[in-house]
Amino acid sequence: MGDLYCEKCSVGLPNIWICLHDTCTFRGCGRYQNKHAQQHYSSLKHSVFINPKTLLIWCLECDQEIIEDSSMALRSIFASNNTSKKPEIDQKPKYKGIRGVIGLKNLGNTCFMNSSLQCLSNIRAFQRYFLKTIDIEELKAQELAEFDIIKTLSELFNSIWNGDAAQVSPKDFWDAFRKSCPFFKGMAQHDSQEFLRIFLDKLHDELKFEYQIGKYRSIVSDIFRSEMQNKITCKICGNHTVKDEEFYDLSVSIPTAEDIESYKEISKEVRSPQERVTLYSEKSTLWSKIQQIFTESKDVVSIYDCLLNFCLPEELRQKFECLNCGEKTPSRREVKILKPPNALMLVIKRFKYNKAGMKISTYVQFPMTIDLRFFLSRNTSCQYQLTGMIQHMGGVNGGHYVSYCKNFKNNNWYEYDDSRTRQITEQQLLEKEAYILFYQRQILEPREKLKKGQKKAYLPSYWCNLYRTLSDPGPIISKYLLCGHGMLKPLFSLSQFTEIASSQAEEIREKFSQDCGIIEKVGECESCIVSFAELNIRTELELELIKELNEITPFEGPWYLISITWLNHWKSFCCHESSSEKRTPMAIDNNGLFLDGKIRKGLEKGKDYRGVNRHVWEALLKLYKGGPEIRRLEVDIYADPAPDIICSTPSLTAEHMGKLRVIQSTYPNS
Ligand SMILES: [Zn+2]
Ligand SMILES: [Zn+2]
Ligand SMILES: [Zn+2]
Ligand SMILES: [Zn+2]
Ligand SMILES: [Zn+2]
Repeated sequence: MGDLYCEKCSVGLPNIWICLHDTCTFRGCGRYQNKHAQQHYSSLKHSVFINPKTLLIWCLECDQEIIEDSSMALRSIFASNNTSKKPEIDQKPKYKGIRGVIGLKNLGNTCFMNSSLQCLSNIRAFQRYFLKTIDIEELKAQELAEFDIIKTLSELFNSIWNGDAAQVSPKDFWDAFRKSCPFFKGMAQHDSQEFLRIFLDKLHDELKFEYQIGKYRSIVSDIFRSEMQNKITCKICGNHTVKDEEFYDLSVSIPTAEDIESYKEISKEVRSPQERVTLYSEKSTLWSKIQQIFTESKDVVSIYDCLLNFCLPEELRQKFECLNCGEKTPSRREVKILKPPNALMLVIKRFKYNKAGMKISTYVQFPMTIDLRFFLSRNTSCQYQLTGMIQHMGGVNGGHYVSYCKNFKNNNWYEYDDSRTRQITEQQLLEKEAYILFYQRQILEPREKLKKGQKKAYLPSYWCNLYRTLSDPGPIISKYLLCGHGMLKPLFSLSQFTEIASSQAEEIREKFSQDCGIIEKVGECESCIVSFAELNIRTELELELIKELNEITPFEGPWYLISITWLNHWKSFCCHESSSEKRTPMAIDNNGLFLDGKIRKGLEKGKDYRGVNRHVWEALLKLYKGGPEIRRLEVDIYADPAPDIICSTPSLTAEHMGKLRVIQSTYPNS
């Protein structure tokens, strides 16, 4: 079937539509090419076409897909000469009133975002987190930088899942998002993968918490994070190096026919047995007939082929440094999944951004369930179920995004085309040209419901959400919420914990492990709240004084250079940027700017150090001590040191000294 072209121009597969009218066999290109199928319809009123690659049947008169359920109606079209006879298709399936099935208004080229948001909204752990786990008031008090994005997203999810409008506008979210990502300003069409990457990275940065020193988790990483192992083997000596990488999505290319041929045997092995049987076997006889006409098995690329292409050893185009050979040698790379994600976001690379820019429209077969066993570093079963898909229609420079999601309340599939939604069958879904696939890992043992009991215990609400919704909720993390007295840290609210029966808490702890003992009581910590408030008073006064000193004009005396690392630490201490625990001041430390007693080479002004005036320097030195002092006549660390004489008298007035003493006395530990 490689030689199907438009009869009017040279456009080829997969953008070819074959007229199904009676004995007409006209082949024309689609609406995103030269519209020759449409012209055929306009002149002859032949309205029903089939795409031989995707097997989509489209009626140009109604401008909608003809769904498989109505194959009886289809038969009557094929049999009859009467073009005016319309198939009796229920044009508006009853979906209204189904929770979570609500369209999103297109705000001008925003289908890439709408389709992504619908897929995220149908991931239960993600949806539940924004609807039930987070406490908006608490986040507001924490002064999150991206508070507006989080607030508008949870409001949007709330109107999708608890509202009664047939469609909602994502405008508030879109405005908040664009304000923080100017890249998305303007009306240009963007890409769903690009949006998901930037958006999820932003969410992770904003919502992450440190559960162990230097280790962070967030709802984004708990759902999407996977760890990959890259093994690079030297082809000369066989020595290998291993490099681990983290991903939120997995981008796979569509392999060529030769690639597929080269791992044909492995490919058969990789597919799960039931998938080999069930894929396409449930089709109606009409469908299998149509399929027989157009499909040859060798033409079908499966998502397994894409994964094999990604993971199997490949020759690297560039030579790689081998430590054993001591030079760059020809090497081979192999990828294994070390930690499979709870939700696998598989992106099929359909866009090539070379000079011309092109889109690959090869149909890629994808199953409803997938087993990653073959791709893991350890050989255990790892089952996933398809729960969402984003399709891109059109070419590289434009087009339209539509998503398909499985509703976790009723397990039906729905199409989300901006504000329009409709129910579809699994069969219809499987025939679409997939761009991004969302698979969720199955929860193997059904989870017992969380229940209250006479004897109380508390689990972090964040973790309870993961326990309810994810295959691998990870260890229970509570310590980061507790102060040294075992109570809630200031700025956290009581909603951080969920009460359950003590006996159940014991059972759960045994299975999932916890970073502290059973929590039997939660409450606010009065002494921490008091010292936190005192600390805030001190930092406010301090910030005020330093600002005042910084603005003293005319400028006199030399510049004092301070390491940016220390300045950032001081800033986060004074500007409430981190949790109360980490907010401890430390001595000024310029040692990072030196190497073996000399100024390091290649330091940059503004990037590695900054200059402050004499007043600021003296105040900071009084408060924090430390050093060493770096004094220059200009803000250039490589200039000659400024002489002593210029600054022999103290610059701080009696009033400034008084303020400094107040600040020092307010600090609880001094
Ligand atoms: Zn054409
Ligand atoms: Zn025709
Ligand atoms: Zn029609
Ligand atoms: Zn080597
Ligand atoms: Zn405390």
